[in-house]
Amino acid sequence: MAAVAERPRPVLHQEYCKGCGRCIEACTPGCIEAGTAIHPLTGLLPVTLHLESCNGCGLCVEACPEPYGMVAGDAPRLSPGASPRPFGRPPREPAAADEPAERVALPETRPLMLKGAHAAAVGALLAGCRHVYGYPITPSTDGAELMARLLPGLGGTFVQAVSEVATVNMMYGCGGAGRPAMTFTSSPGFSLMLEGISFMIGAEVPGVFVNVMRGGPGLGNIGPEQSDVKLACHGLGHGHTQAVVLAPSTPQEMLDLTFLAFELSFRYRNPVVVLADGYLGQMTGRVRLPPALVRPGLPAWAVPGDAAHRQNLICSFHLAEPDLEAHNHRLTEKYRRIAAAEQRADLYRCEDAEVLLVACHMPARMAKGAVRVLRGEGVAAGLFRPQTLWPFPVDALRPLLGRARRVVVVEASEGQLEDELRLALAREGTALPALAHVRRCGGMLPSQREIVEGVRAALRAGEARA
Ligand code: SF4
Ligand code: SF4
Repeated sequence: MAAVAERPRPVLHQEYCKGCGRCIEACTPGCIEAGTAIHPLTGLLPVTLHLESCNGCGLCVEACPEPYGMVAGDAPRLSPGASPRPFGRPPREPAAADEPAERVALPETRPLMLKGAHAAAVGALLAGCRHVYGYPITPSTDGAELMARLLPGLGGTFVQAVSEVATVNMMYGCGGAGRPAMTFTSSPGFSLMLEGISFMIGAEVPGVFVNVMRGGPGLGNIGPEQSDVKLACHGLGHGHTQAVVLAPSTPQEMLDLTFLAFELSFRYRNPVVVLADGYLGQMTGRVRLPPALVRPGLPAWAVPGDAAHRQNLICSFHLAEPDLEAHNHRLTEKYRRIAAAEQRADLYRCEDAEVLLVACHMPARMAKGAVRVLRGEGVAAGLFRPQTLWPFPVDALRPLLGRARRVVVVEASEGQLEDELRLALAREGTALPALAHVRRCGGMLPSQREIVEGVRAALRAGEARA
């Protein structure tokens, strides 16, 4: 008869042990001790074995929830090259294949009259989004309200979370499952989401944030302001974070750019921000639907909870320093590709412009009117309107700067757009042109008259210096 002691003794792979202690409880002879030394790769406290009294019962192996933690001594060993990773997940290629998204043609329809926030909601639905999370905040709530009404009938889900922090983490879960997710929020709410956005960027999880900006800082007010340009372009939480920032200036663009945001978000596995302002969210305009809607696919990397994707891991945790550095280098390379491919701008009468107005969102509409007035006075004015604030569309701007005598930045903030312009040109090594600005803030937008007067003043100042 075989002796019990001849049964294989357990083997512990410390790099996969979470230190949960279940094996300690399971071991009657007391062969397993709580760990006291932090494992350098996992930052956890793995148990230690003292097998002198071990009878090979295998109860510790049974108790261990980690497939590679405590294993029977006769179990196949891990391959020698397997790189230990936190939480017991060996690196593997996804087993599932990408299920690509499909485009389904839409019939030609008459234009709709939609307010900006509703146009963004329609754009999201046409892009295949059926999961919306949010916490109400003026002036973005209309978009969420429409989604709450429409989604149940479309087989979707709207969840009013307990806070913006909960919202962004629900988006992390949904995006991690490979499903298009979005939220509507406004400046103070967006600030609360930043930590979660950093986690989504770190874990390369897609998701769309429609931020209808209002006056700040703090609670500010509910008037329109371009108050989050800096935050969206350069402050998306901690670490090496960047996301495409789209800047619509009409209800039509609220639809089109929200629709586009989902495509970009999945193409680059990264959140995308649609930055609107309070007026734009509330303003009604004619909106045409796109020629096709999107039936989303399922990416191979997703974790939707089925067997085919079981070995995938979505995580922003890289405890080993070389791993985290390599991850940041990968992100840098991704940002470089985005910056090269995704710059967008709209040019109005720029072909011969000697005075170039730079404006986006609602101020761009007043700036366009100012260009017409100035042209009527014989001033060769043009409007350069960035539709992406990150990446800033320097490629389209650079050729215009040779002719422009003056560049006038028009904005509803104390210089956040101008800072983006300066930074983008400085990074390119392009000399800064003579800059002037017309600014309002606190919920006030620059008027057409103020812009015209600002341009006249800038031209007079230039002549005085010449
Ligand atoms: S095999 Fe049994 S006796 Fe040996 S360490 Fe595990 S639980 Fe303890
Ligand atoms: S070996 Fe398994 S059961 Fe024991 S502490 Fe580690 S993870 Fe928990």
